[in-house]
Amino acid sequence: MFPSPIRVMIPRFMWQTVSPDATGSLIWPTAFFDAVFRAPNGWSIRDYWSRVTFGLLDLRFDLANLWWLLEREQSSLRDDRGGMIAACRAAAEENDYSLAGYDRVVCFVNPPPCNAGAIGAPGDVVLDQGGSLEMFQHEIGHLLGFEHVWGRNGVYEDPYCVMGYTGLWAHDIARPPEFARLTTIATDFWRSGRRVAAASLYRLFVRPEFGGSGALDSGQGAAGFFDPHVAHVRTGEAVWLTALSESSGAEPVLAVMPIPEGGVLAVEYRNNTGDDAGVPPAVVIQTIGARSPGAGHHEVDPPWFEATVEPQAGASALVLNGTDLAGHPFGGHRVVVEQVATASGVHRALISLH
Ligand SMILES: [Zn+2]
Repeated sequence: MFPSPIRVMIPRFMWQTVSPDATGSLIWPTAFFDAVFRAPNGWSIRDYWSRVTFGLLDLRFDLANLWWLLEREQSSLRDDRGGMIAACRAAAEENDYSLAGYDRVVCFVNPPPCNAGAIGAPGDVVLDQGGSLEMFQHEIGHLLGFEHVWGRNGVYEDPYCVMGYTGLWAHDIARPPEFARLTTIATDFWRSGRRVAAASLYRLFVRPEFGGSGALDSGQGAAGFFDPHVAHVRTGEAVWLTALSESSGAEPVLAVMPIPEGGVLAVEYRNNTGDDAGVPPAVVIQTIGARSPGAGHHEVDPPWFEATVEPQAGASALVLNGTDLAGHPFGGHRVVVEQVATASGVHRALISLH
């Protein structure tokens, strides 16, 4: 799947037996699917994911021109995400459309509702016209291999990553005039999500299939293809970070330091520009591998939101200074903003980790 382009087929289906409580909606035209998923318009799912991964993840979506009939009952299958995807895959093949050359499929079923979402990370996805652009961004994130981020109160609780809650700190995008009269069920359809956190990029690219070492804290090269954007630091060391949404790739966007609690401390600078237009500016502190989601959760060492620091010289925050979920004490680590600078519209912060 990587580093070559990720080939994704979007087969589209009409339920043969529509549930009585289905949501009536006009079928979106193929031109709209084109615009949403793959057109070079700046806001398509392909453009979004290419931009927020520094061009590392290159989605290539294919669409069939036809909608096919899914010869199943919506009411009995719509809650079974894996069942819907299996049925759609089988139906595509029955229509003599081979999926063999594709890394993944995004099954689109109509009319809504259904239990839309991804099956695993990376995994196939099922969507319907009830979704919003940001919901699609999040689910395609799973397709690419990103897992949910965590925070104080559990899953999704990282406000600085699109793999957390959907809807938080999103920003409006201009609705193209050619779709002025198109109906969307989601009232917030024309809103785009914040970026995927640099910590999530680090976590993904640590995986060997993405060129990484497989270990969270093995130093240079740990984060595979993302490593040129990472500064590996030791305690007391300071490093300049460029705001994630303003980086041209010349300077690191993430500082990573191994910690005795396990895993790494990961610090990034987020400013309210570009895909982060809706986020409050902050230096964001996450850990990866120091805390565990516990039994019953499928995420392994997810990025874990710890705290933010004001992007002002002299500001600091102490993290991991309490106990973990099992009651074990943490030692505490301080993150200090030493200096901030702005040149040519690019915001930078000199950060030290302790
Ligand atoms: Zn999700």
